[in-house]
Amino acid sequence: MPDADDHDELVLDGLEFYQRAVRRVAQDFARRGAVVQPLGVDLDALDALHVRFGRRGRAREGILGTLRPTRDLEHAVVELADLLQEKEFDEGNTTWPGCLSGHTHPPTAALVDGVACWQCPRSHETLCPIG
Ligand SMILES: [Zn+2]
Repeated sequence: MPDADDHDELVLDGLEFYQRAVRRVAQDFARRGAVVQPLGVDLDALDALHVRFGRRGRAREGILGTLRPTRDLEHAVVELADLLQEKEFDEGNTTWPGCLSGHTHPPTAALVDGVACWQCPRSHETLCPIG
């Protein structure tokens, strides 16, 4: 099979996995009081995957950076959560969604034993699964 076809297939698979992942990430963000809410993942004319997002209580939508195609749902959840967390920082919530008690840094999205989780960047303690 030519390389171009392989790439197309990977991008289309990526779209499917990200569309599933976005629902989980949206649930997680809503439950933890985020302002930023992911709305969907789209494929543009140049074969790039973009995530659409909104802000709670506001009508305007925006588009966030490009996602790397993946065929792993948990990996897709980590990628999305990471990108959207940056946007939440931009909104002024620089420690969202909150790390361990007494920690002033935000947790990071990470794969822990193959599951997408929020993790303390210092102790590497797992806080909770994402979504
Ligand atoms: Zn921490």
